[in-house]
Amino acid sequence: MANVNENFLKIRQNYLFADIARRVSAYKAAHPEAQLISLGIGDVTRPLAPAVVEALHRAVDEMGNERTFRGYGPEHGYAFLRDAIVRHDFAPRGISLEPDEIFINDGAKSDTGNFGDILGHDNTICVTDPIYPVYVDANVMDGRAGNVTDTGWSRVIYSPCTAGNGFTPALPRQRADMIYLCYPNNPTGTTLSREELKRWVGYALEHDSLILYDAAYEAYITEPDVPHSIYEIEGARQCAVEFHSYSKTAGFTGLRCGYTVVPREVTARTATGRRVELNPLWNRRQCTKFNGTAYIVQRAAEATYSEEGRKQVRATIDYYMDNARLMHKALREAGLTVYGGVNAPYLWVQTPEGTGSWDFFARLLAEAHVICTPGAGFGPAGEGYVRLTAFGRRDDCTEAMRRLAAWTAGTR
Ligand code: PLP
Repeated sequence: MANVNENFLKIRQNYLFADIARRVSAYKAAHPEAQLISLGIGDVTRPLAPAVVEALHRAVDEMGNERTFRGYGPEHGYAFLRDAIVRHDFAPRGISLEPDEIFINDGAKSDTGNFGDILGHDNTICVTDPIYPVYVDANVMDGRAGNVTDTGWSRVIYSPCTAGNGFTPALPRQRADMIYLCYPNNPTGTTLSREELKRWVGYALEHDSLILYDAAYEAYITEPDVPHSIYEIEGARQCAVEFHSYSKTAGFTGLRCGYTVVPREVTARTATGRRVELNPLWNRRQCTKFNGTAYIVQRAAEATYSEEGRKQVRATIDYYMDNARLMHKALREAGLTVYGGVNAPYLWVQTPEGTGSWDFFARLLAEAHVICTPGAGFGPAGEGYVRLTAFGRRDDCTEAMRRLAAWTAGTR
């Protein structure tokens, strides 16, 4: 008889968003007349940019022609896309990367979850709290997280980010081998300044830690002092890998494409202290377990860098950030305390004193027919907050804010 990986039995049965979907379905079944507006799950609503659609059509035609048909591609991605990434996402910021330091994938979720495959299972991990749930859950599955307690997982070092510390995480007091940072942050929508990020890189270099830096929302940064990539910080090439995604940048949530940067210099140790480069190890892992992202999808991602593509993608990001601004204003006017929404498409709203985040979620659903995400689902320090996303249609955002204002006025 085969044994199971018992780490899977430790984990909550439902992924956060599956849990929310289940509660929403139950509400809908009981109240079929309710017109719900979802500002909960972070999915986009704007269609693909025309330049991307044209690239898809062209690539599909190539696949239907004997002379231009493509079968299996390189596991780590086609050179045309890796080159475009180096030229457009990094070179203009003064960051020099080689195409073989870029690994194309089917979205950042896979690689943020899978990167632990090449790292020791006894590493200690540190996360800022609250955080995108995949980092902790993937480490639970790998057996690094310990056991669940009232305050989180026993072997996870949590660095809380709350209004009390201005959402600036403190460096860990114990040694952390793997550190997950996500900036601009999901769920709080807050960022780290260059100086703050320097402190984390300094910590990692001093303690020989690896930073797993998730930059999925970097395209939403509007303020000048906020780094778009950890490689803007000196020394980061030695201690950080970075994850990017076209999902929120260019509406690829249904198309699936992202990439991971693994610089040549970044290493980890064996038990005997020998240094091992992570780039060839990750390449080996991908060649074994991943067969590449679809050719047509990589052509679509490439099109986001064309002159037209860049303008069109930017217009969509601006649309969502206009939503964020109008929501920020409406929430403040409704008397709520709200963070984020300036460099990220997420608004992090403090729930009224004495109202837990799941209670707030349930009341907002039942009384205003608006779906949010309870902050507690993102980690212990998310209690007392809910997340709203700015990825909705403009009309829905406006109507949701109208309902929310009426609801808060009625509950005062
Ligand atoms: N990283 C963060 C911080 C996210 O919020 C998300 C999606 O919501 C992802 C990664 C996953 O993105 P992808 O669609 O590229 O898998």
